Amino acid sequence: MDIFRLNQTGYAAGLPVSFAVLSKDPVVLKKGAGEIVGAFRPEIAGTDPASGDEVALLSPGLLPAGDYTLECGPHRRTFTVRPDAWNAVTSALIKGLYYQRCGCDLLPAFAGVYAHPACHTAPARDWEDRSVLRRVPGGWHDAGDYGKYVAPGAVTVAHLLYAWKLFPAGCSDTLNIPESGNGLPDILNEAAYELEWILRMQRSDGSFHHKLTKARFAPFIMPEADLEPEYLMPVCWCATGGAAACLALAARVYRPFDEAFAGRLLASARRAWDWLQAHPDFDPFKNPEGVHTGWYGGRSDITDRFWAACELFASTGEDVFRLAAEKLYPSVPSLTQFGWMEVGGLGALCCLFDLKEKAGEVLYTQLKEAFLRQSGEPLTFSHASGYGTALPADRYIWGSILPILGSAMAMVLNHRLTGREDMRDAALNQLHYALGLNALDTCFVTGFGEHPVMHPHHRPSGADGIDDPVPGLISGGPNKVFPYPSTREKLGEDVPPAKYFLDETPSADTNEIAIYWNSPAIFVAACFNAMAPHQH
Ligand SMILES: [Zn+2]
Repeated sequence: MDIFRLNQTGYAAGLPVSFAVLSKDPVVLKKGAGEIVGAFRPEIAGTDPASGDEVALLSPGLLPAGDYTLECGPHRRTFTVRPDAWNAVTSALIKGLYYQRCGCDLLPAFAGVYAHPACHTAPARDWEDRSVLRRVPGGWHDAGDYGKYVAPGAVTVAHLLYAWKLFPAGCSDTLNIPESGNGLPDILNEAAYELEWILRMQRSDGSFHHKLTKARFAPFIMPEADLEPEYLMPVCWCATGGAAACLALAARVYRPFDEAFAGRLLASARRAWDWLQAHPDFDPFKNPEGVHTGWYGGRSDITDRFWAACELFASTGEDVFRLAAEKLYPSVPSLTQFGWMEVGGLGALCCLFDLKEKAGEVLYTQLKEAFLRQSGEPLTFSHASGYGTALPADRYIWGSILPILGSAMAMVLNHRLTGREDMRDAALNQLHYALGLNALDTCFVTGFGEHPVMHPHHRPSGADGIDDPVPGLISGGPNKVFPYPSTREKLGEDVPPAKYFLDETPSADTNEIAIYWNSPAIFVAACFNAMAPHQH
């Protein structure tokens, strides 16, 4: 049984190395042929509540590039420090979205053995008015299923666009996707594929259909074999707000490259905003009778409206949007949430990093103070964890990777505002978590590390007859809050939350993949990939 836990993709020269050890015995760190470069006496304060492990998190600080060996009694584990340690995994995480593309052939030149013909190409029927047929091709399959959902798509795109705005040097431009070399950075090419689909999901009145799915999830078949009819589901307040925000942001990002595209994006965002203004009373989305695909409903549209107002102000400079954002701001419950359910963090990102002082007293000065205060919480969580993981034991929910990487986003942004190294280092530990420094000794990104996830809940990976799953997809990870009864039956009650995980295809509750989990991983990996002093 291995007693070391580390980032299985290696470490970057110029950023602190950290690893965990499940022993109190002395640990020696050797470089190359055997030169001792570090010695540790692990101090274990107590049992780590989330994992039940007696574990010490150790850091030798900065290490020069090279091959290293950790030794503790009879135990050994090797790792590398490289200038470009996370370039490949960052690229793969972005390329992972390419593999989720719907409605186009995935050609062998770009998809290799994972090539397949175009899927879901038939026109979709309006659920509420079956006489209406519309062509709504494109977009990314949302997760392990083949549905496409506007609100999750909007936050995914936003994570990519902000990753590119803040960390352009960390976003690989050699993805080998069909658009590569067209003058647009590849991460923007990939995001544009989803944006074109989001634009198609808008109704003539400005609102957005919530989702494009069948009545129920497909079995584990390839997407081109999934021929059940798709439906445009009813409109949704949160989807309309999220789309307005994402499209307004995209208008700013794409304007220098493609004025016409930027114009379409902004016009669509404005129409969505106008619809929200004309429909002030939030009506939560519920799956219509007979529909059993993802809910993604949201309990309020406050943060969606807030984020939309911020982005529209940033893209137009029109005071009406600033005033709307200021009015909504006191009702925004959190500025450090970046997932589809709560998007206050994305509004904060817009204000703090794009608008800056132009946002004014409320949306810059006051918001910044609140953001710095709120982003202290994940640091506290990280310091309380035996593995440095910024998630308390009782919060290992379905898709626990999202709050973990969301915490990393908050701490990275704090670091960018304040220069605090403790924030940077704790954020980096969340990237390490995703790549293997965790209680399961598992790299949650397919195709990477010594012990990668091999059986994600992902229909193409399960149906393509290829042993290795589609690469560059991140698993949702342990979930003890709402596990399936079958998972509970297998694991029982005593397995601790951070180990409540099955690398098994049926376990959507612990091992599904999702575009909006890949995207915060892209944001965080791009950040640290850019910080690592490599080939640029
Ligand atoms: Zn498809």
